[in-house]
Amino acid sequence: MVEIFENYEIKNESTFKIGGIVKKVAFPSSIDELVQLLQTNQYDIVLGNCSNVLFSSDFIDKSIIITKNINEYTFKENKLYVTCGVKGPVLSREAQKLGLSGLEFMIGFPGSIGGMISMNASAHNQAIQDVLVSARVFDLKENIIKEFTKEQMKFEYRKSILSKGENVLLDAVFELKRDDIDKIQELMNRNIEFRKLRQPSLKYGNAGSTFKNPENDSAGRLLDLCEMKGQKQGGAMVFENHANFVLNYCNATSLDVITLMYTMYSKVREKYRIELRPEIKYIGDRGTEEYKLWQIMTENTH
Ligand SMILES: Cc1cc2nc3c(=O)[nH]c(=O)nc-3n(C[C@H](O)[C@H](O)[C@H](O)COP(=O)(O)OP(=O)(O)OC[C@H]3O[C@@H](n4cnc5c(N)ncnc54)[C@H](O)[C@@H]3O)c2cc1C
Repeated sequence: MVEIFENYEIKNESTFKIGGIVKKVAFPSSIDELVQLLQTNQYDIVLGNCSNVLFSSDFIDKSIIITKNINEYTFKENKLYVTCGVKGPVLSREAQKLGLSGLEFMIGFPGSIGGMISMNASAHNQAIQDVLVSARVFDLKENIIKEFTKEQMKFEYRKSILSKGENVLLDAVFELKRDDIDKIQELMNRNIEFRKLRQPSLKYGNAGSTFKNPENDSAGRLLDLCEMKGQKQGGAMVFENHANFVLNYCNATSLDVITLMYTMYSKVREKYRIELRPEIKYIGDRGTEEYKLWQIMTENTH
């Protein structure tokens, strides 16, 4: 059954553990319920596991759908049929048991299928676009369900046809490759080990990489050269082992995070004349100090 809350405290939904009160939040538990909500035209944004978002600490005058309870999947031969709310690590582990390769990269981060397809998530030389066959979406302009092939999804770096917010991912089909169970497990273990060394765990709130990599370079490398590791702003801090992660180390507010991001952005712009663009998505209302800083960092991007 769909659960709908008004004036909902959002912070514990996000991996950043930051956020104020949201006007309305709905949690559908099936694709039918999700479609019914979308047909009402009353919702501003659809989220999955909120692992790539920064919610404003102020009141958020928006209506949000969170799909994390839409959790169905079936494997048939080498195909995976999956709804938008299922989390990547669950699928990695299930595919491994069946000797199916292609999802090992999902083991180390908490995205849902909807979020991963929207962001064209990738890691460890694998990407969601490598395994996707087709996706069913709800077109918010035409109010109908459509089926897109992989080509129609228009995948680019951290971008897809879903990124504009005009289509909502309902479910998807993936094609995987048969491989040795132990080999798949070994690759997953390597991916987990890599993260333990270089990335923060969720002990401290964070939303993964803060900025996208500029062409032919790495945001982490540039930020490191600008000596950003360990820099703090209020309760937010740049991770000491990797300069492209911002941690909520002590009750950070969204303004703390965005002010720190703005310092990171400005330092790289001054030193290298490169404008880093946020990978994380900000969800808040216009007119605030943090919104102004966010606008500068996202100017002329789509
Ligand atoms: C510790 C950590 C490590 C991470 N490592 C990686 C990594 O290695 N590689 C990587 O790519 N990402 C990484 N991330 C970022 C994040 O997990 C991914 O971007 C993930 O794909 C986001 O999924 P989500 O369900 O949490 O999306 P959300 O944060 O809920 O939403 C992200 C975007 O997707 C959209 N969206 C969500 N669901 C739908 C839907 N059903 N239809 C249409 N649009 C939708 C939202 O509107 C929003 O624009 C990491 C995050 C953390 C916290």
